[in-house]
Parts: sequence; C-alpha cells; structure tokens
Amino acid sequence: MRRPILAANWKMQKTTGEAEAFVRSFLPLVRDASGVDVVIAPPFTALERVGAALRGSEVALAAQNVNAEEKGAFTGEIAPGMLTDLGCSYAIVGHSERRTLYGETDQMVAAKAAALLAHDVRPIVCVGESLEEREAERTLAVISSQIEESLASIPPERAAEIVVAYEPIWAIGTGRTATPEMAQEVHAMIRERLRDRFGGAGDRIRIQYGGSVKPANVRDLMGQADIDGALVGGASLDPESFAKIVHFDQQGGSG
Ligand code: PEP
Repeated sequence: MRRPILAANWKMQKTTGEAEAFVRSFLPLVRDASGVDVVIAPPFTALERVGAALRGSEVALAAQNVNAEEKGAFTGEIAPGMLTDLGCSYAIVGHSERRTLYGETDQMVAAKAAALLAHDVRPIVCVGESLEEREAERTLAVISSQIEESLASIPPERAAEIVVAYEPIWAIGTGRTATPEMAQEVHAMIRERLRDRFGGAGDRIRIQYGGSVKPANVRDLMGQADIDGALVGGASLDPESFAKIVHFDQQGGSG
C-alpha cells in the first residue's frame, strides 16, 4: 500500500556538468521502473540543470536543505518558494550532517518541514542515533523524541505527504549497514509513533532507511515490513549503481 521511494542524496558533490551527465546516463537505465518513486537531490547549484534534464521523466527533483523563512536578510540561505520555483517536489531536512555539523535542532527541522508543506514540497525528515546512543541502548528513546519534536508542526491532514528517513549515524558513509532486522526494529517503532501522532495516516507515511545502502544490500532491506524506501549517499553517485538500487527487486540478496 506504500509506494517505494528511492532517493539519491549527492551531498556536496558534482558540478552542473557532472550532474547533467549523470541524468543523461541514468534515465535510460530506469525507464522501465514502475511502481516506485525515484528522487534525486543534487546540490543547490545543480538543481536547475538537473531539473531541466529530468523534464518529461518520472524522476523527481529534491533539495538537500531549506530555510524555514519566506524571504529576507538570511545571507546564503534558500527559501521554500525558491525550491518550488525550480520544480523541487521534495526536500531533505534534518540530515544528520546538518544536525551535527551545523547545529540543526529538532525545532528547526520542524519549522522547515512545515514551511515546505506550505509550499507543496514534500519534506524527507531524517532521524538517527549516534553510535554512543546505540551502545547505551538509547536508540528507541532518541528516535522517538526526534520523531515527536521534528514532526511537531505537521498538520495531520498533510501527514501522508511526508517521508521519514531513518539513518543511523554510525552507518552513514561508513560501509557499516544496520542489518535488515535492526533497521526493521526501529522502523516498526517509528511506525507506532506515527500512528500515535497521526492515526491512520501514520500507515501511509513512507519510512526510508539510509546508511551505506548499495545494490548488494537493498533487496533485503526493502523486504522488511516497515522499510518503504532508501535514502542513498555514496552509492547514488554512479548512474548504474543507483539504477540497480531503483531495481531493488532484481538484485541479489540473502533470502
Ligand atoms: C546519506 O547521505 O543520507 C547516506 C545514507 O549516505 P551513505 O549512503 O553514503 O551512507
């Protein structure tokens, strides 16, 4: 009942030319993909060119961040309306790199998510625990609190439009992936919190897993009941690799 959503987060990588070349190679590889949503989040500088290259395809454009304000004296920031203007239909908010390197709080993430929805851009709201938190057996408490606080400003009638990405910080860019069972345990808890907060709409919210997802592990992760997609960093930089992730049901797996 939930349509899988596979999203590429390129972070601070690719010039405009490299980004367009990716799209030209990638689109033919996913032309036959059906029943899934595919999203690409290039750096801000490449949004316009990637958006132009994606035109006419089913692949959606996303930003990696946004400012919650409409406009004003916020040097270097990008407003939600500017993303709509470029054709973005999604934006990532609260990525752990923004939380840990740039001091983003749950309150800031909540404001960004609500501002995006007000502009009809779907937020991909990231949550995740650190290694210390996992080792102290605080994972469920940390994620529960991030979910509650980061989604505090989402109007219940818009809840089904959001995407949640569970990304254990210790698995991002490290090559260490949570096992499908470990990820499912947290996804199931997130699903419960979403039901508590939004009722039946909680069952319609897609929850992505992120953290060293690659063609070799995507099928097993996607086989879990509450894993509805993947947010992919490193393995999304190469068109063939990301196309394999989009075709997750055709990849090898342990089961
Ligand atoms: C990410 O960028 O959100 C991410 C999960 O990165 P990687 O796939 O490289 O671990």
